[in-house]
Amino acid sequence: MKVDILVLAVHPDDAELSCSGTIAKHIQLGKKVAIVDFTAGELGTRGTAEIRLNEAEDSKNILKLVARENLGFRDGFFKNDEAHQLELIRIIRKYQPEIVLANAIEDRHPDHGRAALLSDEACFYSGLRMIKTMDKGLDQPAWRPKNVFHYIQDRYIEPDFVIDITPHWEIKEASIRAFKSQFFDPNSPEPASYISSAEFMDFVEARSREMGHKIGTKYGEGFTKTKTIAVNDLFEVL
Ligand SMILES: [Zn+2]
Repeated sequence: MKVDILVLAVHPDDAELSCSGTIAKHIQLGKKVAIVDFTAGELGTRGTAEIRLNEAEDSKNILKLVARENLGFRDGFFKNDEAHQLELIRIIRKYQPEIVLANAIEDRHPDHGRAALLSDEACFYSGLRMIKTMDKGLDQPAWRPKNVFHYIQDRYIEPDFVIDITPHWEIKEASIRAFKSQFFDPNSPEPASYISSAEFMDFVEARSREMGHKIGTKYGEGFTKTKTIAVNDLFEVL
C-alpha cells in the first residue's frame, strides 16, 4: 500500500504528541498517511503494552490513518543495527512514502534520538537496490523517500520550518487523549509519571502555541530537516 507520508515513531503516542496536527492537516488535504510504531512502549510507567496498542488503534481512527502497525522492537533496548535496519527498510519499501516524519533528533528520552538516526539511515539504505528485502514472499524494489523531516517532542529544538495546525488543534488533542492510560486522569490508581500530570497537557499546548507564535498563527508544529530544502517558487514559501 503506497502512502504519501509515513510517520515513524519509537513509542505509540510520540507521533500524536509531536506531529498529529500536521498528520490531520495532510489527511484533510487528501493525502494518505500511515504510522509505524517501533515498540509497544512496554517500559512506560503506566498502562501495559496491550492497552497502548488499543489506544494506538483508537487514535488511528481519530486521525483517519490508512494504516498503523507496530514492529515489536524492544522498548529501551532496540539497536540501530543490521536487523533493525532491514526491518525498517522492509516497511519503507512496503509503504513507498514520498515523505517520512521521524522522531526528534535528540530529546529527553534517549530512545528518540536513536530512533531518529535509525530512521534516517534506513531511509537512505532503502534506496540501495543491492540491499534485498522481501514482503509476503516477494522481492521489494528499492525506494527512497524524497525527504525525511524530524518532529520536535519534549526538549526544545529550533525548528527549520513550522506548519500551521490551528484548524487541527482539536483533533490533535483528541488523538493524544486517546492514550488514556498515559495522560492526566484524576481517577487513575496508577503511579504518577513525567507525562501524567495536568501540567503536561498544558505544556503540549504551550509548545504548539510557541511554534504557532513563530509563524503568526495560534498553533503550530515545528520540524527539522535532514538536507537542504529545495523551493520551486518563492511564493510557495509563506
Ligand atoms: Zn517516546
